[in-house]
Amino acid sequence: MDNNQYLMISAYGSYFAEIPHYFVTAPGRVNLIGEHTDYNDGFVLPIAIDRRTYATARPMYGDLVKAKSVGFDDMEEFNIREDLKKRDRWVDYLMGVVDEMKKDSYNLNGFWALFRSDVPIGSGLSSSAALEVASGLLIASLFEHDIDRLELAKIARRAEQNFVGVNCGIMDQMATLLCAEDNALFIDCRDQSYKQVPVAFEDAGFMVVDTKVKRELDNSAYNERRSQCEAAVAAIAGKKKSVAALRDADIKDLEGIAGDVDEVIIKRARHIISENDRVLKAVKMLEAKDAGGFGSLMYESHESLQHDYQVSCDELDRVVEIARKTDGVLGARMTGAGFGGCAVALVKKGREQAFADAVGAAFAPPESEDTETDKKNEQDQPPLPEVFSVKPVEGASVQKLDIKS
Ligand code: ADP
Ligand code: MG
Repeated sequence: MDNNQYLMISAYGSYFAEIPHYFVTAPGRVNLIGEHTDYNDGFVLPIAIDRRTYATARPMYGDLVKAKSVGFDDMEEFNIREDLKKRDRWVDYLMGVVDEMKKDSYNLNGFWALFRSDVPIGSGLSSSAALEVASGLLIASLFEHDIDRLELAKIARRAEQNFVGVNCGIMDQMATLLCAEDNALFIDCRDQSYKQVPVAFEDAGFMVVDTKVKRELDNSAYNERRSQCEAAVAAIAGKKKSVAALRDADIKDLEGIAGDVDEVIIKRARHIISENDRVLKAVKMLEAKDAGGFGSLMYESHESLQHDYQVSCDELDRVVEIARKTDGVLGARMTGAGFGGCAVALVKKGREQAFADAVGAAFAPPESEDTETDKKNEQDQPPLPEVFSVKPVEGASVQKLDIKS
């Protein structure tokens, strides 16, 4: 039994005075390249990371669900047979999964569940998908439903869309469920087909920089980008019928609509079209174990997100600038929806600390002569970015526990 499992089982005992029957883990993820391509029927390339959500539970007679997440509010309770209503609390993700499973006529009963996570919450590493997937796998195991992993990803996504109310793509849930150790997951978002691509650079690995800038999931900016992409598709399709989404367009198609639409529409479309192209090239770079080539594509992706798609922010741009200036950093880009959250970088082995130090130094508040003022300023300062290595791990796992009391 590993340490996380041991800790969860003993915590379960102290919250519920019971012994759990199943233990589940579900990783967070970081998208290496392919940003904002998902809702354009395009390509993405995430890895599951060694930061996980853990869950453990047992079924209980009756209809009552009790759920606790370490570090979040009190115990939550709901009746599994009742019409579930959103509470604007963490338990919405669990209730959303229950709700979608009920819609699919899975037979469910009461259970008591405990969750804990070391995925940073709300940073763009998809703690939400990890929670949904952990919930789904746990419930499927408790009530002996054998659900295909892609099907479970769809249930988890619908939970986030319909119950929580976030219009998310399928990447996060697929990455959490379907990634393999030491592989990235290439996903074609048009038909949700996927393939594993080995990550086997000889002397480089990925690092995440969590800027701690809270990504105000700026719904209006996100919806605006989506409708700008639709406007580009409509204009191109007027001339080239085979274009149903930006995934089908190429850069030359943009010349054809140059006078017809606003320049900003062209910029948005140029990002999506070039980004899809970069994902395909990135897969080739992985296959060729060409870390330098992969890194250059990451920088290009960032440029495009910064200037054409305009979803970056000062802090993310600064991180990428620092990466460019730090010897041994091969590439970096913002990852996730943007406007804050995380950057991902490809760093040569042995240069990880140098990169972390460079980020730390650039974001450190300026020192003054007066230590009292420094102390006060420290309290007013926004939190400093956190820089850590990540490795591509296996997707979610379930274990049946056989604990004697
Ligand atoms: P991200 O998925 O990038 O971390 P989101 O805003 O999509 O950010 O999801 C964060 C939300 O998910 C949190 O505010 C919380 O409601 C929920 N959440 C994620 N992990 C947990 C957890 N382990 N326990 C309870 N709630 C969680
Ligand atoms: Mg999320």
